[in-house]
Amino acid sequence: MITSFHPPQRTLMGPGPSDVSPRVLSALARPTIGHLDPLFVQMMDEVKSLLQYAFQTKNTLTIPVSAPASAGMETCFVNLIEAGDTVIVCQNGVFGLRMQENVERCGAKAVLVQDDWGRACDPQKLEDALKANPDARFVAFVHAETSTGAITDAKTMCDIAHRYDCLTIVDAVTSLAGNPLYVDDWGMDAVYSGTQKCLSCIPGLSPVSFNNAAVEHIKQRKTNVQSWFLDLNLVMGYWGKGAKRAYHHTAPVNALYALHESLLMLKEEGLNQAWDRHQIHHQALKAGLDALGLDLVVPESERLPQLNAVRIPDGVNDAQVRAILLQDYQLEIGAGLGVMAGKVWRIGLMGYACRKDNVLKCVSALAEVLNRVQAPVAHKQTMAATLAAYGE
Ligand SMILES: *Cc1c(COP(=O)(O)O)cnc(C)c1O
Repeated sequence: MITSFHPPQRTLMGPGPSDVSPRVLSALARPTIGHLDPLFVQMMDEVKSLLQYAFQTKNTLTIPVSAPASAGMETCFVNLIEAGDTVIVCQNGVFGLRMQENVERCGAKAVLVQDDWGRACDPQKLEDALKANPDARFVAFVHAETSTGAITDAKTMCDIAHRYDCLTIVDAVTSLAGNPLYVDDWGMDAVYSGTQKCLSCIPGLSPVSFNNAAVEHIKQRKTNVQSWFLDLNLVMGYWGKGAKRAYHHTAPVNALYALHESLLMLKEEGLNQAWDRHQIHHQALKAGLDALGLDLVVPESERLPQLNAVRIPDGVNDAQVRAILLQDYQLEIGAGLGVMAGKVWRIGLMGYACRKDNVLKCVSALAEVLNRVQAPVAHKQTMAATLAAYGE
């Protein structure tokens, strides 16, 4: 017999979804109202302005796409790119591969600039590719590669792209609210993100932002956007400022209450404070991992605080450890993706999950489980090292 579904209370310290704040969950349960209700429209305007704060942008076209971050990615590519275009795609992990897939499905040519997984994208390689491909009009790269935990210097990449007259398409899914991100100051032309990483919100929405140069480019397309649902010309009639809110699709009303609440929490905390918080807890987690003898994959200067890829010690069974953490500790950490499958764990410290109690829980649970699977580590010293990072 099928009964109501009651999920367990887990601690989500993987690559997303991450823990959702109780404030956000309670916002979700508020009464559903019509998506053209004047009060709802007012709330939509607040969501846009809160998103502008989160992205540090004045872009008018800053909205949440009603679908997961992959749809935000697709929104950027299908609106900007036309068949026959040349796009430089930087790849240093899984999400750069998906960008290539998007470009090619638009009928455009992807010129690949590849870096090792676990490293940042190399701006010099981008410059070389731009020199070699003067017909390129776009540069696409991932700011925070969640598959490896590496951060790329977005400002330098955008500066180079603009010197060669290219528009930039940036994946900021994991970076938004987790590490410094200045859409306007760094010259990102089109950027997409997600709600289930560092925003402490539920999965299923994708904030995007387009500057004037990108909007102009879209207006001057020679061909129609092949996706009806993601066509920004139509979506703008729904989300546009002063637009007559014509029906395009039914907004995910309650999910938008959740996003509103999570963005409000971010504003109340302050962006700088949120970025600092991710850094502080990352340092403590790192101290604990060091004490456990576990190495991070990414060199220190290219490391994301909110996603920690850890090398799995020889002889330790990846799936077994994760299964014990889930069953006995209600703790989820992530597996490796692609070429890193079986070789790394991905420990997320994202949004609401990025807290001292979670760091202590995670380090302690890892120590206990490693002992259980015969990879002896010193539990007491590990906790002391972690607490020392908090100044205790
Ligand atoms: C999670 C993630 C995505 C995809 O998000 P979905 O919500 O799963 O579609 C894209 N890019 C990066 C860098 C991500 O971390």
